[in-house]
Order: sequence, then structure tokens, then C-alpha cells
Amino acid sequence: MRIVLISTPIGYLGSGKGGGVELTLNSLVSGLLSLGHSVEVIAPENSKLHKNNEKAKLYCVEGKDQISWQHQNYDSPVIIPDNSLLVGMLEKGLDIAKQADVLLNMSYDWLPIWMTQIVEKPFAHIISMGNESSVVSNLISKVYAKHPYNFAFHSKIQANDYPFIKKPTIIGNGFKLDNYIFQDAVNGPLAWVGRVAPEKGLEDAVYVANELGEKLKVWGVKEDETYALKIEKSFPQGTIDWMGFVSTNELQVELGKCRVLLNTPKWNEAYGNVVVEALACGVPVVAYKRGGPSEIIQHDQTGYLADPDDKKNMLSYVKIIERIKRKKCREWVEKNASTDIFANKVVNWLNKVIKEYKSK
Ligand code: UDP
Repeated sequence: MRIVLISTPIGYLGSGKGGGVELTLNSLVSGLLSLGHSVEVIAPENSKLHKNNEKAKLYCVEGKDQISWQHQNYDSPVIIPDNSLLVGMLEKGLDIAKQADVLLNMSYDWLPIWMTQIVEKPFAHIISMGNESSVVSNLISKVYAKHPYNFAFHSKIQANDYPFIKKPTIIGNGFKLDNYIFQDAVNGPLAWVGRVAPEKGLEDAVYVANELGEKLKVWGVKEDETYALKIEKSFPQGTIDWMGFVSTNELQVELGKCRVLLNTPKWNEAYGNVVVEALACGVPVVAYKRGGPSEIIQHDQTGYLADPDDKKNMLSYVKIIERIKRKKCREWVEKNASTDIFANKVVNWLNKVIKEYKSK
């Protein structure tokens, strides 16, 4: 198959601003290449693919980022800036897709989904967020009525956010296991990983660390500086150990030394890459029972699921984290979320999308 992949129009690949989509895209490229498919990636200027993905052709496009939907009101209209990056990436995609079998879109936005109705090529969409926008959700509903195969979701819980999707295609996610080394570090520090933004609920993890009289190691882009500062000021100085945004390789070495990852989203997380990355290193996870993480973590086996927003409940699980066998965490990832498993699911799905177009 020849696949044209369109990245997120928020931040270049490697910036961290695109969140989990950046890693998902690289995992997918790697899995598709190893299955023998040809992949062309369209991404913002300055983007880099992970090494070993060099066989994929990368086209970089210059332009102005979209505003992420989780930081707009649910009823906000679609905004397309002058010199729009999204428009530029779609134009490039259409241009090179002439020779391709399918266009695969990874940006959560209105325009690419709308184009499904007018573009001759099969146009498939990996929906990377829950229902964050009425205009996007209503459009998915409309397009889904005509093209029911064209949408895939990372988790069942995420797909439930779109009640009109009757039989959702669930593709999970994939992780290159060689990039994560298992560590049996039962006495390490507490970890938190993610974009530092209100929907990620960092304050609840800092609360847990403070109650235990420990530091919390925090990795990720400070997307919202004011929010980061506000949390820092609400707790004793030094409770947060800011580690910055680092490469997957650096992240996994340090994360693997931690005894637990705290995952505290306040929104319906579509999947939760960082949860699986921790498990891949052997680090159990305590998360709120909400969104993708509640489908990934096996309560009592690979971590614990606390009642949503109940930080005391979360604290009680962190206190008994040594009961979790770290080997089981790694095993879950090997059996459920390798790049090969992920790419195979995506290929099966894309074959259905292409077949549907051919039958029309
Ligand atoms: N991440 C990273 N380096 C860091 C912190 C985070 O590469 O120092 C990546 C992490 O690997 C993950 C992404 O940031 O892929 C966060 O994705 P997630 O799905 O957890 O949340 P999102 O940002 O998409 O809401």
C-alpha cells in the first residue's frame, strides 16, 4: 500500500506540542514500513522522523499552527488563520496522493474531515481526541453516515464520546518496544509525564507527592506557563522536580527508575501514551478511572484505577504500589501494544476503507 500520512498542525514533530500524536505517528510509520508498505509523511516545517524511519519520505510545510480544540470552547467556530499550516499540509497531501492508495489524516480538525466528501481518494482519519468540539463532532456524524469505515479510534471509551458511531474501529496504539528498557526499580521516585496544561491535572499528582513528603519528577512541555506557575506556588518549594521535555530515549531511562507513574487527566483522554510508555519500562501506573487509561491499566495487576478526581484515593493506591509486579506491566505492553500489533490493525482498517471506495 502507498500511504500518505498527514500529521498534526500543532507543533513540528519533535517539539512535544503535538502531544501523543507525535509518538503515535512515528510508531505507525515504523510498523507500516516493517510490513513493507510505502509511507509519505506531511508535517510542519522543522519536523524530524525518528531514526530508522528514514525510508519514509518526509515533506515539510510552512505555515501558522491551528489552535488545539481542547483549549477552545466546545461551541467555538472553526478558525483558519492566514497562511494556514493545516491548509498547506492538505494541499501538499492532495498533490502527492495522486499516486497513493489512501490518505491517512492524524489531525483532529474540521477541514480534513470535510474533505472526505469531495476528494476522490479514500481519506481515512485517526481521531485522536474525545468529543472536544461540537462543529467537529457534528461533521464526523455527517461524514460517518456516508463513509462509516473512514474513522478509527484509539480506545472504546474514546469512541463512546461519539454516540452516533455504532460500530467503532478501535486501533489502540503502538510502541517500539526496543526503545523501552525494563527496569526493576521498586524504590524509585514518583513520576508524572505529559503536557503541562489544565486538562492533565498535574496538581493532583503534586498533592500526592506532598502528602508523602516526596518530590514529583515531571517531564513534558509547559504548554501553559501560568498554570504551571500556579501549581508550583500552591505547594512547598521543590515539591515539583521539573525535568523538561526530553527525547523518548532519555525519558525511558529516567522513567524506568521510578516506582510509579501518576496519571491524572481531567478530560476523557483518548488513549494515554505515557501510561503505556511507563508500563513498557516496568513502571506501574495509578490513574483516574476515566478515558483511555482506564481501558489500558488492569486494576491490581499493572497498577490501580482511582475514583476520578479523588486524590486521596489515588494516594492510598500509591502507598501500596509495591504489590504490583513490574514484569507484568512490561508483559501487557508486549502482548497488546507493540508497533507490529498496531500497524496490523491500521492496515486491516485501511484495506476496508479502500475496498469500500472501490465498490462504489
Ligand atoms: N513526551 C516526550 N518527552 C517528554 C514528555 C512527554 O516525548 O519529556 C511525549 C510522550 O512520549 C507522549 C506524549 O509526550 O507520547 C504525550 O502523549 P499523551 O498521549 O500522554 O497525551 P497528549 O499530549 O496527546 O494529550
